[in-house]
Amino acid sequence: MLVVVLLAAGGGFAQSTNMNAIAESYVKLVLALGNFDADYVDAYYGPTTWQAASKAAPLPLAQIRTRAHTLRQELASADTPANAELENLRRQYLDKQLGAMEARVEMLEGRKFSFDEESRRLYDATAPFNPEEHFREVLAQLDRTLPGKGTLAERWEAYRRRFFVPRDKLDVVFRTAIAECRRRTALHIALPPGESFTVEYVKGTPWGAYNWYKGNFQSVIQVNTDLPITIDRIIDLACHEGYPGHHVYNSLLEKHLVRDRGWVEFSVYALYSPQSLIAEGSGNYGIKVAFPGDEKLAFERAVLFPLAGLDSARAAEFERVGRLMKQLGYAANEAARRYLNGEIAAATAAAWLTRYTLAEPAQAAKHVRFIDRYRSYVINYNLGEDLVEHYVEARADGDARRRWDAFAELNSSPRLPSTLK
Ligand SMILES: [Zn+2]
Repeated sequence: MLVVVLLAAGGGFAQSTNMNAIAESYVKLVLALGNFDADYVDAYYGPTTWQAASKAAPLPLAQIRTRAHTLRQELASADTPANAELENLRRQYLDKQLGAMEARVEMLEGRKFSFDEESRRLYDATAPFNPEEHFREVLAQLDRTLPGKGTLAERWEAYRRRFFVPRDKLDVVFRTAIAECRRRTALHIALPPGESFTVEYVKGTPWGAYNWYKGNFQSVIQVNTDLPITIDRIIDLACHEGYPGHHVYNSLLEKHLVRDRGWVEFSVYALYSPQSLIAEGSGNYGIKVAFPGDEKLAFERAVLFPLAGLDSARAAEFERVGRLMKQLGYAANEAARRYLNGEIAAATAAAWLTRYTLAEPAQAAKHVRFIDRYRSYVINYNLGEDLVEHYVEARADGDARRRWDAFAELNSSPRLPSTLK
């Protein structure tokens, strides 16, 4: 801290040194909090000595909170060069990341926030409220569309089974989708040389898929195979976890901010922080950036359906149903909001998910476990996608080239959720 205060008195060079010292302290605090929360440090590829030091002498929770608070005060008094947009974003980013850290410590200390207050403090955003009538209207449309007898949930389950990717075809179908996502992304974004990933199939995790970023432009992508995966999810997962989603996002941050600028704060990724809304939102919106218009359907019909041994003639119909199903996504936020606010029990939340998102019981139970573990993180997917779409499309103005440029710019800068509007 002493070094920070002394250098702050200097000119422009001192300013960036000052910011770099605050950034280094921030990284060390994220690592310290990781000792109390196994999910918190999602990725770290900074100096290994910092991690070893944080484990050797763990900082108590209360000290992490007060140090985070002090760092925010130092940030507030740090000079930022005039007209330096990226430097200003950096300071705002560090302030919000530290604020989220304070909130996360308070939660670990036993403080209970409402769902909206939690998401505002952790992710710099609150999800819109959707009344049940909204979801009932979508369900009525599905009711007219889905064939067969029984409840709507039973008919949806029977219908989607026709589009399961057989387990023995999953790897070749997924790798083919990733290759296409990578090809499309590389046409528009300069991927760092040597970037690469490995794919693993796992069971028993609360999530459907995960990208573990290892640094040096390398990722491990894990896909959960507890439940079957429908064919329409393959490109979604390949884009979201790989290209132009998480793998590319993390690689661009490492290239442009950590290596080119020496901004060490981006060598650590705190899961419960505003950064996650940008990451999940750009992971989801990246699907439409890589496959605008009908291009996803065209690729699925021509390549993925035959590869999975599925009937290509049904691709367009399944895509239309999928668009209706996606409108039910916000119902999962409402289940989480009510459940975490203590208004409904776990079993009621699962029943809500079955009623309004048509999740079959095993899926609904799995989603409640996800909510138990990740809480208001659930808003980062759909609200994140909407905010990223708004930001990118306002700059793209319908032009594909500009859409990619805006997307790449967002994924290479320290932008915050509340500034995407
Ligand atoms: Zn994700």
